[in-house]
Amino acid sequence: MSRVFNFSAGPAALPEPVLDRIRNDIPDWQGSGMSVMEVSHRSKPFIAVAEKAEADLRKLLGISSDYSVLFLQGGATLQFAMTALNLAGPGDTADYVQTGSWSKKALKEAALHCKVNVAASSEDSGHCHIPPEDEWRRTKDAAYLHYTPNETIGGVEFHFVPNAGDTPLVADMSSTILSRPVDVSKFGLIYAGAQKNIGPAGITVVIVRNDLLERARPGLPTLLTYKAFAESGSMTNTPPTFAWYAAGLVFDYLLEQGGLESVAAVNERKAKKLYAAIDASGFYTNPVAVDARSWMNVPFILADSGLDGEFLAQADAAGLTNLKGHRSVGGMRASIYNAVSEAAVDALIQFMQDFEKSQS
Ligand SMILES: *Cc1c(COP(=O)(O)O)cnc(C)c1O
Repeated sequence: MSRVFNFSAGPAALPEPVLDRIRNDIPDWQGSGMSVMEVSHRSKPFIAVAEKAEADLRKLLGISSDYSVLFLQGGATLQFAMTALNLAGPGDTADYVQTGSWSKKALKEAALHCKVNVAASSEDSGHCHIPPEDEWRRTKDAAYLHYTPNETIGGVEFHFVPNAGDTPLVADMSSTILSRPVDVSKFGLIYAGAQKNIGPAGITVVIVRNDLLERARPGLPTLLTYKAFAESGSMTNTPPTFAWYAAGLVFDYLLEQGGLESVAAVNERKAKKLYAAIDASGFYTNPVAVDARSWMNVPFILADSGLDGEFLAQADAAGLTNLKGHRSVGGMRASIYNAVSEAAVDALIQFMQDFEKSQS
């Protein structure tokens, strides 16, 4: 068996020890003679898995009992609507900071359900920087302030948490959650689709401050109401049991690695060396403002886009896969989530240098 270095933006690489564990567990999970996919979500063994996953996530992120942790379906995209439906009335205004494709999608969806004020936008730089916080034009008494800490497509990341004051701060952390420690107490609500840093696709984590559960507008479908999931332990209906189990294995693995301080140190090192290699070359460039460069998604373009196809073909042959940039940006993108090892980044840098040399 040979594994490639997988730089996919999502669904993305999973830690190998987690894959091994899943493979071992599948035919006969905990001596049950069944796989975890074949047992009731209300059975004792599965409830234990679900509770341990939540407890481990709380440990990793230091989540206090003031917050509920929910395991939902519908991806981050459903959260674009659920945040508005649960936190704002139809006539309320929510503030959005637009820093790229995902925040733009989030605010468009929210605008179907409440008033939206674009408090700041980096569209003028092609979404390559973060508008300074003191220039944001925020609404007095906004229902919440939404931002996207890491724009997965543009590779733009906030390296600070905005100061929202008394306004609940809402964050789409899909592609940065668990990449480093974060002070959850600064947030009203955090959501993240699983398929970047948490586990397989199909489950979405929501961390919501308990007082905000009371804000849902009347008449919402039960399955769009946070409070229903908070009261049922996310078992309002059948949850995606396999994805929940696999996410639990990832949380357990991250704790074994020493928690998020250790994870962050590796991630920072990986990102720094890749950006340093890009900046040192005359062949590759990254368009993002230096203070807003993502640790997780590193877009880069070749001096001659006519060589993109050749670069990707040779990379593939060298076992470096999924480097093609998003169709809206072009060029390349290396997603270097938690499960992408430092060795993978080293191999990529070496390949890039060799390719550059072969073209001169
Ligand atoms: C991947 C991604 C999404 C979309 O997630 P889905 O699970 O496909 O709905 C939303 N926001 C960000 C920041 C993402 O990286």
